[in-house]
Amino acid sequence: MGKLFVLIGHPIGHSLSPEMQNAAFRDLNLPHHYESFDVKPDDLEKAVAGIRAMGIAGFNVTVPHKVNVMQYLDEIDQEAKRIGAVNTVMNQDGRLLGTNTDGQGYLQSLEEKVGGELSEKRVLVIGAGGAARGVAVTLDLYGVKQLDIANRTSERATALIQDGVHHAASQVLTLEQAAQFAYRYDILINTTPIGMSPNTDAIPLPLDSITPGTVLSDLIYNPLQTKWLLKGEQKGALTLNGIGMFVAQGALAFERWTGKSPDRDLMRQTALEGLKGREL
Ligand code: NAP
Repeated sequence: MGKLFVLIGHPIGHSLSPEMQNAAFRDLNLPHHYESFDVKPDDLEKAVAGIRAMGIAGFNVTVPHKVNVMQYLDEIDQEAKRIGAVNTVMNQDGRLLGTNTDGQGYLQSLEEKVGGELSEKRVLVIGAGGAARGVAVTLDLYGVKQLDIANRTSERATALIQDGVHHAASQVLTLEQAAQFAYRYDILINTTPIGMSPNTDAIPLPLDSITPGTVLSDLIYNPLQTKWLLKGEQKGALTLNGIGMFVAQGALAFERWTGKSPDRDLMRQTALEGLKGREL
C-alpha cells in the first residue's frame, strides 16, 4: 500500500525535496508519495498531531521547526539530541522517532570529495546556526584532528562547542581571526547563508591567506558556485557546493523510511533540474 511522506517548514515554496523523493519512489516502483506543507510556527503542534492522526509514515522538518518539533516526538536518537535538532521523523506504529540526517549527509558528501580519511584534517566551520551544529557534531563524532568555529556572534560558537563538540580540541574565532589564520586549516566550511541567492556578491570570509589544495566547502546550493567558491577555485582550492549534502540527507531519510537505497545519481539529477529555473 502506498504511504505518504511529508515535509513541514515555513516558508516552504522553494523546496526541491518533493521532486527528488518522488523521483526516487517511482524509480524503485514504490507506490509512495512525498508532499510539502507550509506550517506556521504557531501551528507546529497541531501539524504533528495531524501527522499522527492520519498515520503519515514519516516526515522531514526544515527551517524554522527543526528544534521546536523535538518536544512533540516520542523518541530522539543520540546524534540528533547532541545536534539539538531533528530533520527526519519515522512513524513506527504510531511512535514518532526523530533523527538528524543533515550531519551524516554532509559527511558523506565531504568524504566523496576529499576521498576518505578525514581524521588528520584541521577543520574550520564558519557559522554556528542549525546547519553548523549538524556539521560540527558529526565531524566531531567522526574524529577530525581539529575543529574550530568562527561566528559573528561568538557566544553561539561557544555554546555549540560546549553542547556538541567533545573530542577535538576546539577554539572559537572571530571572523577577523578566521580570515587571518585560514591557512592553518585543511578544510573551511561555510554554513552561513552569506553568498546565497539573491545576495550572490557577498562572501563569508576573505581567502587571502589560504594555500592551494585547501578544501572549501559551501552548504549553499543556490547558486551552485558561490562567489566564495569561485574565488577559492582561482586560488587553487578544491571546492564542494551544498548539493551533495542536500541529496545525501534526503537519501538517508529515504533509507530510514523504506529500508531501501535510492538511486542517488537520479536524486541529484532531479534536484539539479529543479534548481535550474530558480538559479540567479
Ligand atoms: P541559521 O540557523 O539561521 O544560522 C545562520 C548562521 O549564519 C549563524 O551562525 C549566523 O550568525 C550566520 N550569519 C547569518 N548572516 C550573517 C551575516 N550577514 N554575517 C555573518 N554571519 C551571518 O541558518 P542554518 O539553518 O544554519 O542555515 C545556514 C545555511 O546553510 C543556509 O544557507 C542554508 O540554505 C544552508 N543549508 C544547506 C543544507 C544543504 O543540504 N546543503 C542544509 C541545511 C542548511 P549569528 O549567530 O551571528 O547570527
